[in-house]
Amino acid sequence: MAKKQFKTESKRVLELMINSIYTHPEIFLREIISNASDAIDKLCYLSLTDERVGLQRADFRIKIGVSEETRMISVSDNGIGMTREELESNLGVIARSGSLKFRNEMEKSGEASDLDIIGQFGVGFYSAFMVSDRVTVITRAYGSDTAYKWESAGTDGYTIEEWQKDGVGTDVIMRIKPDAEESEYTRFLNDMSIGQLVKKYSDFIRWPIVIDAVEAEEVETGETDADGKPVMKQISKTVERTINSRVPIWQRPKDEVSQEESDEFYQNIYYDYEPPAETIRVSAEGQVAYQALLFIPGRAPANFFSDLFEPGLQLYSNGVMIMERCKEVIPGCFRFVRGVVDSPDFPLNISRETLQSGRQLRIIQTNIEKKVKNALRRLMDEEPEKYEKFYAAFGLHLKYGVVENYGEKKDLLTDLLMFYSSKEKKPVSLRAYKEKMLPEQKRVYYVCTDSIASAESLPQAEQIREKGYEILYMTDDVDDFIVRRLESYEDVKFCNITNDDLGLETEEEKAEAEKQQAQYRTLLDFIKETLGEGVADVRLSRKLKSHPVYLTSEGEISIEMEKYFALMKGDMSQKIKARRVLELNASHAAFKSLEQAFETDKDRAEKLAKILHSQALLIAGLPLENPAEYTELICGLF
Ligand code: ADP
Repeated sequence: MAKKQFKTESKRVLELMINSIYTHPEIFLREIISNASDAIDKLCYLSLTDERVGLQRADFRIKIGVSEETRMISVSDNGIGMTREELESNLGVIARSGSLKFRNEMEKSGEASDLDIIGQFGVGFYSAFMVSDRVTVITRAYGSDTAYKWESAGTDGYTIEEWQKDGVGTDVIMRIKPDAEESEYTRFLNDMSIGQLVKKYSDFIRWPIVIDAVEAEEVETGETDADGKPVMKQISKTVERTINSRVPIWQRPKDEVSQEESDEFYQNIYYDYEPPAETIRVSAEGQVAYQALLFIPGRAPANFFSDLFEPGLQLYSNGVMIMERCKEVIPGCFRFVRGVVDSPDFPLNISRETLQSGRQLRIIQTNIEKKVKNALRRLMDEEPEKYEKFYAAFGLHLKYGVVENYGEKKDLLTDLLMFYSSKEKKPVSLRAYKEKMLPEQKRVYYVCTDSIASAESLPQAEQIREKGYEILYMTDDVDDFIVRRLESYEDVKFCNITNDDLGLETEEEKAEAEKQQAQYRTLLDFIKETLGEGVADVRLSRKLKSHPVYLTSEGEISIEMEKYFALMKGDMSQKIKARRVLELNASHAAFKSLEQAFETDKDRAEKLAKILHSQALLIAGLPLENPAEYTELICGLF
C-alpha cells in the first residue's frame, strides 16, 4: 500500500513533537480522551434530533485498554467517527489551528520556545507520538458501513485502508515506545498509572471512562465442608470500572476543590504553563441560576494581541458543553478572562441569535463583569506584585477598553489603570496618586511622552517637581486619549504639564504675567511671523525655570496625538495636526539676546528665532523640517 506523506508543515510539527523536550509526555492520554469525548458530544448532539442514531445518553462511553505484554494502550469511543476524507484531512494535517503560521512568525522574531508553541495550542492527536512508535486509528463514521484503518509510525507518513469494525466510533491504538534514556515509557503500561492519569487530567470528562479491571471474587464450589458450610473458591473476573468522577470541577462545592486542582484544570484546558493570577468562583441564584469558574491569566498568550486569539468563555448546560467560546458573557475589555459558565437554564441547542437577544446572558455578563473587576481590585490591593505582573501583560488592553465605544466602560476600568509615577519610579493607580496628593495640590499632573527618560528631562516639569507634586508619565499611545476621555479622577482634574494651565499661580501672578505678555507683544508677533506656518502662536512661558523654550499646543489635538496619527498611513495622518504654540522663557539669556537683536539687527533676530524654534521641536520629539538650515544657523553663530 502506498504510503502518504504528511503535509510538509505537519511534518515539521510532528518532528518537533516526537523530539520534543516537552516535560509532560503523559498529556497524550488527556488529548486522545478529549478527542474521544468531543466525538461522543457530536453524536450525542445528533441523537437529540435524529432517532436513527439509536443510542441513548447512557450508552456513550470511552473505553481504555492497556496491555503490558503487547505494549499497547487503546482508547475507544462510540462517538461520531471519521469518514475516509475526514481521516485524511484531520490526521494528515497537523495543527490547522494556526499554530504553525504562528510558530513561523515567532521563529522570525526569535521569541518562541518549543514549549511555548505546544503549550499554546496543544497539538492534540499528535501528542500520541511523544510516547508511541506506532499509532493506529480504526474508525467508522456515523452513517457509513465501511470502516478505515489509518496507521503511522511517525514522520515517514501514514497509510489508510478499508477495515472491519462493529459499530460506529473510533479506536486509537498506541504502541508504546521502548524505554529510553529520556523516559521510562513502560510506566504508562499498567492500569494503576492509567487510572491516575485519567483522574488527574480527565476526571471532569462527562462521559464515563472505563477500563477493564481484573477483580477477585469468591464463588461457591458446590461442595460443602465437614460442618456443612459451602466451600468457596476465588476466581478472577474482568469487570468494567469507571475511573472518572464526571462531576465538573465547577459543580463541586467550593471548599472541596483545592487551589492545586483548580490551577491544574486551568493549565490543562487553556494550555498555560503557569497557574492563573486569580481564580473566581461564582454560584448565582436569583434571576438566572448559574455557576462559573473563571480565571485571570498571569501572562498573555503569545497570540493575545493578534486575530488568532479567540476570546470567550465555555458555555455549559448542566455539565454538557454547548458552546466552545461564547463572547456574549464577557465584555470585550475583559477578553483575557478564561473559564466556564454553566446554567441548567441554557437550552442545549443555543444559537447565536438566542445569544444576542438573550436577557439571560446580559444579566450574566453584567454580573461577571463586576466579579472580574472586584477580583482585580482585590489583587491590586492585596497582592500588588501579582497585579503588576498581570498589568504588564494586559494593562494596555484595559487602557484601550477605557476609550473604546465612546468610553462606555470607563467607569468600570478607571480604578484598574496604572501609570508610571515620577516619585515611586513604578506604575501606580490613580487612587494611590490621589491619596498621596499634597493638601494644596489641585490637579492630577501628567505628561505624555515617548519614554520615561524623556519625561524625566522635560523642562516643563521643573516647577511641579519643585512643589513636590507627583507626575504621571504616560508613555503609551493610547494614554492621551484616556485622559481626555476621563477629564478628571474623582473630581480632581487632570492637568497636562506641557499644555494646560498648571493651576499654580495666584491671581496677582496671573495679572503680572498678562502684563508682561502685553509688554513683549511686538517681539512675539515678530517671532510668529518669522516662523510662519510652523506655529499657531508664540507666548511667554509661565512654566519654564532654567530652559529657554518649549513647544506646546492649543485645542483638541495634542502634539502626542499628532505623533500617534503620523505613524498611521493614509489621509488622517496628514490632516491631524496640533495647533503648535511656541513658549519662551523671558528670563533666559537666549531670550535676552533675541530681544536685543530685535532692536538692533532684525536679520540676526530672525535667525535666533528659528534656532529656538528648532530646539523646541527637538525637545518635543518632532522632526526638524530642514535640518540642514538648522545646522547652518547654529554654525553661523560662531
Ligand atoms: P483538535 O482536537 O485540536 O482539533 P487533533 O489533532 O486532536 O486536533 O484532532 C484533529 C481532528 O481529528 C479533530 O478535530 C477531530 O475532527 C478528529 N478526531 C480526532 N480524534 C477523533 C475521534 N476519536 N473521533 C472522531 N474524530 C476525531
